[in-house]
Amino acid sequence: MPHHEPEKITLNPDGSLKVSEHPVVLFIEGDGTGPDIWRATQPVLDAAVAKAYGKKRGIAWQEVLAGEKAYKRTGSYLPVETLNDLREYRVALKGPLTTPIGGGFRSLNVTLRQVLDLYACIRPVRYYKGVPSPMKEPQKIDMVIFRENTEDVYAGVEWQANSDEARRLINFLNQELGCSIDQGAAIGIKPMTERCSKRLIRMGLKYSLEHQRASLTLMHKGNIMKYTEGAFQNWGYEVALEFGDRVVSEAELWSRHQGQAPAGKVVLKDRLADNLFQQVLLRPEEYAVIATPNLNGDYMSDALAAQVGGLGMAPGANVGDGCAIFEATHGSAPKYAGMDKVNPGSLILSGAMLLEYLGWNEAAQLIHQALPKVLAAGVATYDLARQLPGAKEVSCSEFGQNLIKHM
Ligand code: NAD
Repeated sequence: MPHHEPEKITLNPDGSLKVSEHPVVLFIEGDGTGPDIWRATQPVLDAAVAKAYGKKRGIAWQEVLAGEKAYKRTGSYLPVETLNDLREYRVALKGPLTTPIGGGFRSLNVTLRQVLDLYACIRPVRYYKGVPSPMKEPQKIDMVIFRENTEDVYAGVEWQANSDEARRLINFLNQELGCSIDQGAAIGIKPMTERCSKRLIRMGLKYSLEHQRASLTLMHKGNIMKYTEGAFQNWGYEVALEFGDRVVSEAELWSRHQGQAPAGKVVLKDRLADNLFQQVLLRPEEYAVIATPNLNGDYMSDALAAQVGGLGMAPGANVGDGCAIFEATHGSAPKYAGMDKVNPGSLILSGAMLLEYLGWNEAAQLIHQALPKVLAAGVATYDLARQLPGAKEVSCSEFGQNLIKHM
C-alpha cells in the first residue's frame, strides 16, 4: 500500500485553499462533553471520506490543545503554539470550550475568533426529517446565516451607569455634539466599519454564487440605526457591484426580469431585522442566505436553530481569509461529560461543513444523506429520543456508528 505523506493546507495565488489528497487538519477536543462528541465524530468523517474516495484521500488529524486539557498540560488555557498551529495549518474542527465564569476570564472562543480574524460566523440551518420541530412545515427552512464576527456591540466598548467614564462621555456628547443624554445613563458603543461589513457580505455573495443559492438578504435595523445598520445595507449594495450582473437587486428583478431571477444569478434583498424574524416563520422558502451584523446574527442563529429542532443539530464555522475553525453551536454541557450520552450531530455536521470547505463535497453529501435515514429509523440520542414517540435511544458513539452504517 502506498504511504501518503500528510501535507499542510496552503493557499493558491488567488487566495483559495490548496488541499492535497492527504491534508493535515487540526482538532481541539474541547471541554466537558467535547471528548465524547469528538470520539463519535472522527470515525464518521473518516468513513465518509473513505466511502467517497477510497484510499485516494484521507485526513491526517492532528490535535492541538486548548481549554482545560491545555491548562493541565501547559499551564495555559490557550497556548501560543496552538494559535501558531491554527495560523499555519489553517483548518480545524473544535469541540466546545468551557468559559470559567468570573475572574476576568475572556471566552476562549471569542479570543480565537479575534486573534485569527475569523470574521464570518457561518451557520447553515436546514431541516432533517425526523427531528421534532415547532414548525408546521420545517422542511421549507434551508438557510445559511453569515454573521459578522468582529465588531458591532460585541466590541465590548461600554461603561457602567454613573461611572466616571460614562459621565465624561455624556458630558462630551451633550456639550460638544448637542445630545441630551441622561446623566445617569449607561453607555455602549456600536462600531461598524465599511471594511468589515463589506468583507462579510462579499463572502456571503461568493458563497451564494458558488452554491447556487437563489438570494442573499441583508438583515439590518437601518431605519433606527442609520449610520451603522443602515450603512451595512448600503455597503451591501456597493459590494454587489463587484459581482457585475451575477447579482441582481429585487428592484432590477422586477424592472428587468419580470420578477423571475435568471438562472445562475443571486437576488440581493434587504429586510429590517424585526420583519425578517416574521418572514422566516411565515415565508421561509423565500430566504436562502442571510448576511447580517453581529448582534442580529446572534439572535437569528438561535431562533432559526430552534425552528428546525434545536442546538443538537446546529453546526457552525468561524471563517476568515484562508483560515477556518468549524465548531458545534452548543456549549460543553459539563454535567454529561464522559457519559457517552449527548448528541454528536452538531459536531458531525460541522465536520461535514469542513469537508465542503476542503472541496470534498461528495463526502459531506454522504453525511447529509445518512442523517435523515438514521432518524427515520427512530434512532436518536436522549435529547431527541425523548421527543420522538417510539424512538430507540442510543449513546453518543452508537449514534455515530449508526450514521456510518447508513452511508
Ligand atoms: P450548553 O450548550 O453546554 O448546554 C445548554 C443545554 O443544551 C443543556 O441542557 C445541555 O445539556 C444541552 N446540550 C448541549 N449540548 C448538547 C448536545 N450535544 N446534545 C444534547 N444536549 C446538549 O450551554 P451552557 O450550559 O450555557 O454552557 C456550558 C459551557 O459551555 C459554558 O462554560 C459556556 O461558556 C460554554 N460554551 C461554549 C461554546 C463554544 O465552545 N463555542 C458555546 C456555548 C457555550
